[in-house]
Amino acid sequence: MPHVLDSSLAELEAQLVAWGEPRFRAKQIARWTLRHGARSFDEMTDLPAALRVRLADTFTIGALPELAARQADDGATTKVLLDLGAGAAVEAVRMDYDPDNDGAPDRTTVCVSTQVGCAMGCTFCATGQQGFTRNLTPGEIVEQVLAFSRERRVTNVVFMGMGEPLANYGPTLRAIRWLVDADGLDMRQRGITVSTVGLLHGIRRLADEGLQIGLTISLHAPDDELRRRLIPTSVGTTIDQLVAGAREYIAKQGRRVTFAYALLEGVNDEPAQARALARRIRGIQAHVNLIPYNPTAGAGLRRPSLGRVRAFQRELQFAGVNATVRIERGVEIAAACGQLRTDVQRLGADVIPLERVER
Ligand code: SAH
Ligand code: SF4
Repeated sequence: MPHVLDSSLAELEAQLVAWGEPRFRAKQIARWTLRHGARSFDEMTDLPAALRVRLADTFTIGALPELAARQADDGATTKVLLDLGAGAAVEAVRMDYDPDNDGAPDRTTVCVSTQVGCAMGCTFCATGQQGFTRNLTPGEIVEQVLAFSRERRVTNVVFMGMGEPLANYGPTLRAIRWLVDADGLDMRQRGITVSTVGLLHGIRRLADEGLQIGLTISLHAPDDELRRRLIPTSVGTTIDQLVAGAREYIAKQGRRVTFAYALLEGVNDEPAQARALARRIRGIQAHVNLIPYNPTAGAGLRRPSLGRVRAFQRELQFAGVNATVRIERGVEIAAACGQLRTDVQRLGADVIPLERVER
């Protein structure tokens, strides 16, 4: 049975009208599911009893079972592994930011997965090395947010967990619509960020959605040859094409684009490479987010020292390109996103060090 949020609001309305119900029932169901985090149709007390039964016969609803949970940063970071059935599981992470340190987070960001595994095969990524199992449905994507928003308000959602969001375009967009819809979670569009390995067609499509969501393009190299070594599936797309795609996105959405760059010691972290990168992206409204490589089993790659990371950042800044480093404590979060499953399998440590995303 499909999850009730696998349908769009319009589809849900059509279904209810087909059942002889008033159209507004769809919005009632959406509010119960998203705002109140209902786990069953029975909780929807202002719906007729017969309709609740019919809904339960047609759709699934309710939390995905939690297989494991880990905390770090004194509870400010929580990672959960959620069961999708049939041996499949995905990770989602919550990060709280409390700049005033008064115990009340100003911002709560949830990092979600869009696929079980990933087909893009990036050599440095734990998810990429697991291969691709399947796409998530819109309901499975939104349930990752609900796993946390049932407890507290989520202000930001980043699509930086397992999988390539633009390779699962329709369900990802449908999930985003539920997050920002006034009858859904009613989040600010600017609070949503999609990170892509650089699927040009998807970037162009996203630019035309009329959504003010943030876009991060994972670049990782200043030249096409090295980029193809790190992202073997990127052979038909050049960095120049991606920069043009970013320009188009900025022009249409009025939003700055971020280029993600995973730093690998001796591979892509030389000062000359920072200068080459700057030459390619200078002058567009973009900034670079440097992610020191988070070692994954068997990849044979190394994380550069903080000194090298800062040197790379400085070169970019000297060259007029705004750059931040995605580290604060321990290991960066996005890569760690692909690693809980591995750790659970290995019965690893109780606490996975997680980092807060500097945005
Ligand atoms: N598939 C999308 C989004 C998920 S990956 C993408 O590739 O952008 C989220 C981010 O984590 C990407 O920028 C990715 O390059 C980065 N990442 C993956 N594995 C990493 C690792 N081991 N160390 C550092 N960054 C990593
Ligand atoms: Fe997939 Fe992103 Fe990992 Fe590459 S970095 S394998 S695109 S999840």
